[in-house]
Amino acid sequence: MTMRVMRSAIFLSAFFLCRLSLSSGADRKRDYPITPVPFTSVKITDGFWAPRIETNRRVTIPAIFRKCEETGRIDNFAIAGGLLEGEYKGERYNDTDVYKTIEGASYSLMVHPDPVLERYLDGVIVKITAAQEPDGYLYTPRTASPQELQPGIGAERWAELAISHELYNAGHLYEAATAHFLATGKRSLLDVALKNADLVARTFGAESGKRQGFPGHQEIELALVKLYRLTGKTSYLDLARYFLDQRGHGVKLVQYPPGNRFAIYNDATQIQAHKPVLEQDEAVGHAVRLTYMASGLADIAALTGDRAYFDAVRKLWENVVGKKMYLTGGVGSRHDRERFGENYELPNLTGYLETCASIGMALWNHRMFLLTGEAAYLDVMERVMYNGVLSGVSLDGTLFFYPNPLESDGKYRFNKGRAGRAPWFGVACCPGNVSRFLPSVPGYVYATRDDVLFVNLFITGAAMIDLGGKAVRVTQETRYPWDGTVRITVDPENKAEFALHVRVPGWARNRPVPTDLYRFAEKGDPEVLIRVNGKAVGMSLENGFARIRRVWKKGDRVEVIFPMDARRVVAHPSVKDDEGFVAVERGPLVYCAEGADNSGRALNIVLPDSAPLRPVEKGDLLDGLVVLTADALAADPAAVTRVGETEAKDAAADDEEEAPPASRRRLAPGAGLTPHPLVLIPYYAWAHRGDGEMTVWLFN
Ligand SMILES: [Zn+2]
Repeated sequence: MTMRVMRSAIFLSAFFLCRLSLSSGADRKRDYPITPVPFTSVKITDGFWAPRIETNRRVTIPAIFRKCEETGRIDNFAIAGGLLEGEYKGERYNDTDVYKTIEGASYSLMVHPDPVLERYLDGVIVKITAAQEPDGYLYTPRTASPQELQPGIGAERWAELAISHELYNAGHLYEAATAHFLATGKRSLLDVALKNADLVARTFGAESGKRQGFPGHQEIELALVKLYRLTGKTSYLDLARYFLDQRGHGVKLVQYPPGNRFAIYNDATQIQAHKPVLEQDEAVGHAVRLTYMASGLADIAALTGDRAYFDAVRKLWENVVGKKMYLTGGVGSRHDRERFGENYELPNLTGYLETCASIGMALWNHRMFLLTGEAAYLDVMERVMYNGVLSGVSLDGTLFFYPNPLESDGKYRFNKGRAGRAPWFGVACCPGNVSRFLPSVPGYVYATRDDVLFVNLFITGAAMIDLGGKAVRVTQETRYPWDGTVRITVDPENKAEFALHVRVPGWARNRPVPTDLYRFAEKGDPEVLIRVNGKAVGMSLENGFARIRRVWKKGDRVEVIFPMDARRVVAHPSVKDDEGFVAVERGPLVYCAEGADNSGRALNIVLPDSAPLRPVEKGDLLDGLVVLTADALAADPAAVTRVGETEAKDAAADDEEEAPPASRRRLAPGAGLTPHPLVLIPYYAWAHRGDGEMTVWLFN
């Protein structure tokens, strides 16, 4: 077999493996009305995502496993399983770093077979299996050290669910096991997960005699839904719904004394348990938890058809996307407790925007699209993928951001003790989360509903799509996000009528976000061109998609041209931190000024309205990108000041965290200005050339 034939054989077998295993749960009644085309059926071969997915496979996943070994995260399983002498090391959620990376490695294996990696996973899974107690319980801190190590890890199971992470860890186990089974066909980790899920389902529930409770950190809800999809077992779906429903019904939280690091859990808002979930209409508390909870709510809305869950999750979405989201799609304003701030509280220098919360935004918004068919949710998803998520990992795949602020002064050590990227963290949720998100990106490109084929993202590659029983091969050719021309070739196996719905991003329609939180500063007149087999067609927009319904035959070509002008963006006037500032976007990318391109400074730059923004292709800079240049101005740095209140030091922070400085930047009136040749780079690419100044928002 030639390499090419072999690849396509693997490609097809992964396609069918996925379909087969999904059909085992086919007796289920309801699901999302829109079905994503699984990433195993989509092969990305572009110059933007494919190299990052490959770096993730070659560099990031092995690097994280090495860190998991060095820090005892893998030994913890061996110790709990009696395979190794020793004591449990680390935090109570460390098991999940191993699980998430197994999930990422499995996704990677599905599209890129790698016997060495597969054998490595087998070895880790032996240890995980050993750590499972006979009845299915799996939580290495307690099994390895039955004496009280810290609150949440004591002799009694499930005793302090608000902080223990027993159920959170279980959720990541289920996601890893599902991915590993789909990738390899092996049941080794899946059997561990199902045994654990059966124990949790026997233990918790509304029925009398069962334990009442819910996890302090959401995750198991959406993971149980994955197990339900795989197995068709309704007890998993019921349990997911039960855990969501339990929140906020007269919860009594253990109260820790002030100063204790667990005192942050004294407050029910931190874990979204201050009200029943269906009554919550403002995103509060820990940002990652909220996005995972919202993803679970969307799942329950889709799988049960209960409208109340949709209404609840939609209200949360309106609040987040309308009042609490940064321009990069990231969320979580405060270092303190990693949580949401007030409405319109979006500080730039001290913003938190945890990488995991960005990933949570992508997961949540994708589900909202699958539920409604509205492209507005994909606009948010695309925004966070290209900006807030991608910034979380360095171009070479070895360094990470935990917070992703929109501004840096080069001094404030916002990234867990550093003013730049770091190879690892004491709390290491983000690297593993990136490692599982990147290889799943191909799964966000296409979706289907009956005879409608949705093109959601623009990435060069090919997909094999089952459109209501019709086999359709779709290929895309584009240099997106650098260029707005997308060529789509539609190859149905047999001539057939169906609709192609091509997303027309909000940014190409004068709407950077689907709310009034951000708007383009100048009224543009962007024109999107669509041609079918060379002939221009009028655009018929439905829910943000250009609809093309026709009888398709092999080789039909659709060409879409999006306007890629650089556009200035301003924030809603209630966002005081962005008042007097302007940001710049081009296509799906948010740009920033970094000191490295601007004579060492960025925070004193003034971008006048009249200065044209010119794109310049730089093939040799930061793995190749398009920079924007402009004739701007620079103020005397002494005229730049910080105002406003400083945030308290994070009550739960490790020692490396310092109290954030005042965040709001102001320019003294009458400050002297000199001409400055401005260079902007895409935000995701910052912090590769030493610590220094960076800002998304420029004085205007
Ligand atoms: Zn994280």
